[in-house]
Amino acid sequence: MQLDFLGDLRRTHMCGELRAQNAGEQVVLMGWVNRRRDLGSLIFIDLRDRTGTTQLVFDHSANPALHDKAGSLRSEFVVAAIGKVRRRDEETINRNIATGEVEVAISELRLLNESRLPPFLPSETGPLNEEVRLKYRYIDLRREQMQFNIELRHKVALAIRQYLSSQGFLEIETPFMTRSTPEGARDYLVPSRVHPGSFYALPQSPQLFKQILMISGFDKYFQIVRCFRDEDLRADRQPEFTQIDLEMTFPQPDRVYEVVEGFLKAAFKAAGHELKTPFPRMTYDEAIRQYGIDKPDLRLPKMAGIRAAFTEEDLTALNIDGSMNMVAIRIPKVGKLSDREKKELRTLAEDIAKRNKDFVGVFYDFVQLEKKRPETAAKIRELCSAEADDLIVPVVGIAGKSFSEKNKRAQYIAAGEGRLELARKYADRHDAFKRTGDPDKDFKWLWVTDFPMFEYDDKENRWSAAHHPFTSPHERDMDKLESDPGAVRALAYDVVLNGTELGSGSIRIHRQDIQKKIFHALGMTEEEARSRFGFFLEALEYGTPPHGGIALGLDRIAMILAGADSLREVIPFPKTAKAIDMMVDAPTPVNEAQLKELGIQVRKQ
Ligand code: ASP
Repeated sequence: MQLDFLGDLRRTHMCGELRAQNAGEQVVLMGWVNRRRDLGSLIFIDLRDRTGTTQLVFDHSANPALHDKAGSLRSEFVVAAIGKVRRRDEETINRNIATGEVEVAISELRLLNESRLPPFLPSETGPLNEEVRLKYRYIDLRREQMQFNIELRHKVALAIRQYLSSQGFLEIETPFMTRSTPEGARDYLVPSRVHPGSFYALPQSPQLFKQILMISGFDKYFQIVRCFRDEDLRADRQPEFTQIDLEMTFPQPDRVYEVVEGFLKAAFKAAGHELKTPFPRMTYDEAIRQYGIDKPDLRLPKMAGIRAAFTEEDLTALNIDGSMNMVAIRIPKVGKLSDREKKELRTLAEDIAKRNKDFVGVFYDFVQLEKKRPETAAKIRELCSAEADDLIVPVVGIAGKSFSEKNKRAQYIAAGEGRLELARKYADRHDAFKRTGDPDKDFKWLWVTDFPMFEYDDKENRWSAAHHPFTSPHERDMDKLESDPGAVRALAYDVVLNGTELGSGSIRIHRQDIQKKIFHALGMTEEEARSRFGFFLEALEYGTPPHGGIALGLDRIAMILAGADSLREVIPFPKTAKAIDMMVDAPTPVNEAQLKELGIQVRKQ
């Protein structure tokens, strides 16, 4: 087909802009053919750009040649159209779109480009194959939902930048080609041509650079920054992802919470939600005891202690160990369970018990208990503040089995897993996960504080840093660093939304002597520490102020605000769960010459 040039034609309006009051105006629109309808002497084209669609009309009786030209337009052709806006007749008004009261009677049409028939149309609303969407991402991104998501992401990031900037934070860039950072995942490496055999690492976070910026006196830093982690991918992970990273000098944790609450409020407002601050807070220990997890979903009730419901006689008769934890999971409004569901519940309990081998306990069959001991069951209901149609699952220890403190924690955690699995399983019966439009109910925020400083690594047989080795221990727990590392609490905190960790941070170590002790507790020799973080340890010696910060995942925040269920819906060019970019087809082997120049030889797998 004969294509036309754009020439000096200028667009007067976007395709989502025209309203009834524009009637009579001469306009120039440009965009993609979303849909063509032929009604004999009339042809209608819905012309689309990212702001919406406008109906163009071609009338055979007014201009037969132009009508013919319109007849040859296909989906996704790119055109410029000149014409006059007119009101539609009352019965043809389309109330579903913003421009539905008008149409444009076209007097000139320029065909700027053709399109092959795309594998799917941007206007398609049915479910699409995700691999096809990712391969043809440029078509996928034309879809209204994707355009909305990407614009929303922009607005959210902008609101965060504006807020932080108004609070005196400077956005400062840190290098992408650097050395290994301390976040504990695998690095993506970049070979150096100039220094054969040496590699840069892509940053897992700007952690050490942002701390150095505090040493350099920048006072408050932030960056909306790409981070790279070569982890085994789960459905909700991306090898490169974006963090809202910040650091400040002289803060207590409270000050960090305030700043984060401030920018989240601004970000949510940009998406139309009013958040109430401050967010509630809970220590790590409380979270484990009440929710069996370090990122509680507060949309669901906590687990209740139920020891008080049992007499000594109950315990003996039911073979329950009264000195173990005794908690009950409650899932609201599940209603009566069918026999099949009761059986499924038992299997689920067994699975959880199997996965948690050290935990000698059971998910007790409450229906049985109600039959055997109605009074005890009634007391449990009371302790859980349960309504008649709530599902109750008691979690208790079995008498006669040995247990330890560690075991008790494992029991809380197993119960917590059960709580979430049950909530997910019966999600269509209760309304805890349904959005109501009320941000107080839909977004349950929480700060989890006072994380343990160390975790015991059973495989390596040593303590490792629960957050990262630059996190400061609690002043009060310093003396336990050697004697009882497991009991040392860190000035580390997470911000949690609806059971998802959105960000983690800490107050950092700013003193050489303490940093040394931490490396020692982590079983790192001085040489090892020097070889990995030497530049940083040296910097610490030049007047380092107390400092601390946090990083939050922007992708996840955008996903929640878009109401999407995958990070891929809010990242323009994401990777698949196997870390592949389907559109550009990466990663790929490279040619021999390139490898040779880098001094690299690839071994056959
Ligand atoms: N760098 C940490 C992370 O990416 C966050 C922080 O401690 O600020 O998880």
